[in-house]
Amino acid sequence: MLGQTVGQLISERTVLAEKTLSFEFFPPRDDSAELGLWKTFDAVLDADADFVSVTYGAGGSNPERSLAVVDRMARDIPTIGHLTCVGSTRAGSLEVVKRFEAAGVKSILALRGDAPRDNPNALAEGEIKSALELIELISDFTDLEIGVAAFPEIHPESPSLEHDAKVLRLKQDAGAKYAITQLFFSVESYLHLLSASAEAGADLPIIPGLMPISNAQQVIRMANMSGASIPAHLLQRLESANEAESRVIGMDFSIRLGAKLLEAGAPGLHIFTLNQSKAALELARGVGLVARS
Ligand code: FAD
Repeated sequence: MLGQTVGQLISERTVLAEKTLSFEFFPPRDDSAELGLWKTFDAVLDADADFVSVTYGAGGSNPERSLAVVDRMARDIPTIGHLTCVGSTRAGSLEVVKRFEAAGVKSILALRGDAPRDNPNALAEGEIKSALELIELISDFTDLEIGVAAFPEIHPESPSLEHDAKVLRLKQDAGAKYAITQLFFSVESYLHLLSASAEAGADLPIIPGLMPISNAQQVIRMANMSGASIPAHLLQRLESANEAESRVIGMDFSIRLGAKLLEAGAPGLHIFTLNQSKAALELARGVGLVARS
């Protein structure tokens, strides 16, 4: 399995009528956070995950930390290196791609990223202006597999779902083999994305990215940051419950959403761990992707 790409794993599972299970991590900010990360990683390995991914540069985090985490994870499990290009040069991006490759990475999630708050002009200043240009660069210079982002609730800068779907088609034509979605909270928005994408001729597998709602305030904050909306009835229940009750409500909702997505034909689930295993594995177990123990 270690030598396989994400696209190969998805096709293999699809032939067997099975689903993939994968998890996203972010680089730790300090040594104590690092301990938590590796504990969670071990738990994910024990759960027989198919692949993992590691974020890059989000919130101003240090790229060297992403590379170090990817380097270690890729020895044990197929690992997607996220790569953003906002504010980057072509040569600089290519150098990071080569370092991913040397670490054993077979698949890169090619992303634009967002301008940091302290430098809103970063996008204009960089040489690469969009994920599409990054995909072209990676496929011109390497044989690495490329994945991309998709947005069931529409990218915040995009005029419409149809526009996003056309961009996804351009990315597929440039070499993208799969997409992973931004967090979202309704099966309908995933199904709308699938149909808009199919309409635009983008038929690459789209893996739902799911964030387990174990800490309602944290998820509400992340949803706001990414432009995803939590359904009003859920938000009202989460906000009127105490902490323990709201965890039960949130996890129950997340498990039902995951199960419905798989039933609706999603090729697998990519669970955002926030570097903690408890809720992520509870979700994976709840939808039947990990044997209960
Ligand atoms: P792009 O594809 O460049 O799109 C940005 C906007 O431009 C969209 O509105 C799109 O419609 C428009 N656009 C793009 N190309 C064209 C075109 N040719 N014609 C017309 N319009 C176009 N951020 C991080 O900083 N680090 C991470 O590790 C990270 N991981 C992520 C993982 C996932 C699964 C997802 C869904 C997002 C992740 N992000 C991460 C966030 C991401 O970088 C932002 O959402 C960013 O705003 C958009 O990235 P993109 O790759 O979709 O950009």
